[in-house]
Amino acid sequence: MATLGLGDSVARLPGVGPKRVADFRRLGVETIEDLMMLWPRRHLDRTSLTPIYQLQVGTSQTVRGQVVQVHDRSRTSGQSYLTVRLSDGTGFLDLTFFHAAWLKRQLQTGTHLLVSGRVDQFRGRLTMTHPEYELLQADQQPRLGLIPVYPLAGDLKQRFVQDLQARVVPRWAPQTVDPLPPGIRQKESLEDRAWAIVHQHWPSSWEEREASRRRLVFDEFLRMSLAVLWLHQTDPQVGAVALTVDNPLLTRFLGELPFVLTPGQEAAWNEIRADLMRSVPMARLLQGDVGSGKTILAALAMLAAIGSGLQAALMAPTELLAEQHYLLFEQHFAALGVRVILVSGRSKRTEEREMLQSGLPLVAIGTQALLSDDVDFGRLGLVVVDEQHRFGVRQRAQLGDKGLYPHMLVMTATPIPRTLALTVYGDLQVSQIEGLPPGRQPIATVHLAMKDRRQAYLKVMEAVRQGRQAYVICPLVEGGEEGQGKAATLLADGMKQIPGWRIGLIHGKMSAMEKSRVMDEFRRGAIDVLVGTTILEVGVDVPNATVIVIEEADRFGLAQLHQLRGRVGRGSYPSICFLLADATTAQSEERIQAMVESQNGLELAERDLQIRGPGEVLGMRQHGVAGFQLANPLKDLAWLERARQTARQILAADRTLAQEENQGLRQWVVEALREALPGHVLH
Ligand code: ADP
Ligand code: MG
Repeated sequence: MATLGLGDSVARLPGVGPKRVADFRRLGVETIEDLMMLWPRRHLDRTSLTPIYQLQVGTSQTVRGQVVQVHDRSRTSGQSYLTVRLSDGTGFLDLTFFHAAWLKRQLQTGTHLLVSGRVDQFRGRLTMTHPEYELLQADQQPRLGLIPVYPLAGDLKQRFVQDLQARVVPRWAPQTVDPLPPGIRQKESLEDRAWAIVHQHWPSSWEEREASRRRLVFDEFLRMSLAVLWLHQTDPQVGAVALTVDNPLLTRFLGELPFVLTPGQEAAWNEIRADLMRSVPMARLLQGDVGSGKTILAALAMLAAIGSGLQAALMAPTELLAEQHYLLFEQHFAALGVRVILVSGRSKRTEEREMLQSGLPLVAIGTQALLSDDVDFGRLGLVVVDEQHRFGVRQRAQLGDKGLYPHMLVMTATPIPRTLALTVYGDLQVSQIEGLPPGRQPIATVHLAMKDRRQAYLKVMEAVRQGRQAYVICPLVEGGEEGQGKAATLLADGMKQIPGWRIGLIHGKMSAMEKSRVMDEFRRGAIDVLVGTTILEVGVDVPNATVIVIEEADRFGLAQLHQLRGRVGRGSYPSICFLLADATTAQSEERIQAMVESQNGLELAERDLQIRGPGEVLGMRQHGVAGFQLANPLKDLAWLERARQTARQILAADRTLAQEENQGLRQWVVEALREALPGHVLH
């Protein structure tokens, strides 16, 4: 064991065979270092033993004793529970376990036990319900103090992991290098890293655990902040071009709008406008709930670029939405003499590509394919990203690789809390469109069991009779868009049997032309009910549609459901959203519940984060740039700000982290970026 290093596999540790190696791998643990970073989920307070006669009702305490009686009550009471009477010579304590008849095998008369839990009183007896317990040998000294409780996988046992960590952590923690220069440590009053690692596992008090956590959380944030800022360091020589915001194009466009901007749009536009006038590239996230009118602000920003003689790109998450945007902008901008082109992933129209390359001022609309290698922009002044809050580090790096530092506006209806936004985008400013355009009606949201789906379709019928339109969204099925497309086809075929309904079908496997034909018919009102897949999720804007039925809604994510619901309620008619679902898991039930209770995108985003955790929400792996083990980006905001501040200072003094004392930090950045951007070459 003596020669093992941090990078060696846990397989080299005594007691860790192939089965356990596999179990550990499921927890993300390969090396000894990983094992040390397998942090306890929590600690059990087992700081002292209390004799039974001194137990105080209402407090949490730990008792050592011997089982003197076991009683299986499953038969007598109809309820299944087990009572176990414990004695330590000073008194009796009754332990109750519900639905745990299997415990009988472990907890036999004579067994020595250590139990921790809340002491209660029942009919004059001291009791504990479902205490934490540990079996002891007769002569075994129990481990006291704050006991770590680790995440487990496979056949790993808590006790085994505790013992292993007790051997591994104190031995290898001192080998870790502390990347933090001592000056910073002192300034932030942080503990030494090795100390913090040891005490995260085995603190001797809650205060120690907190001090340790503070250091480790700071490290996680600092590592992430350095990586993100590093990536966004632009060469000071190549700033963005300051735009002429109040140009005649823009003024004309505003003058011809059939409505006035809402105060919320106005406020957000003023913030964007101020950024565009500067030669520092704008990096702004525009949050506004579904239907709040973000597209108009994108149009204004794009006209600022065009009017300044530059190009503007608009990226949408799907081809369908790109096309919708294309049609919309084409219609509005043609009158202004502004050229709009659609750059589709498939189209190899060299003519369009040449126009882009030539630097001609125009608006290019497409999906992320706009960033692909064979698309060159001659004079890109602005990039607008619609409905992709995942757009971030990677894409910024792609643009940077091309030597482009345009102004950037990211728009989303699924806001992510500011802390998370910072982690993904770096120095990102946030604008929020408060409120909705006037006249909007709230969308009633109704959850129906699958067997009651008829009710939803009756409502569809009623709406169609009144001249309104409806969407029906097909369940997500294995096999992605293809399977979902089939389900949609089936459902549409079934519905075509209903007399009087004009049914349309749309899914991702249809050709682009077919799709836009169907959308066009729906928009014109030639289709009453549009059956479709999740390609309808974002952006589609048909104010006459007032009912949306989501089949097997439990299969969709919360953000997705909220977006889908946003397809209705866009005009002045009252709208309704049916979620058809027999909730199958606790999570899906929570999502449906959240949908019924809230229509506020921000609120839902936060609940989503609680339900799923930040890693998944951002679509990043646990260990990615946003992969925090201990830090909670919702709660540790103050520490995030400090770490970012520190990261900024470090990079200001040493842009490339070349100094001797920053080598550990440089290593962190390299690792973080390797995890987040596989294949990306660092400059
Ligand atoms: P989202 O924020 O979801 O992208 P859109 O930009 O698609 O919303 O706008 C939704 C609808 O609201 C569109 O039909 C748009 O024309 C309309 N709209 C936008 N701004 C206003 C406004 N200030 N007054 C009235 N209607 C507006
Ligand atoms: Mg939109």
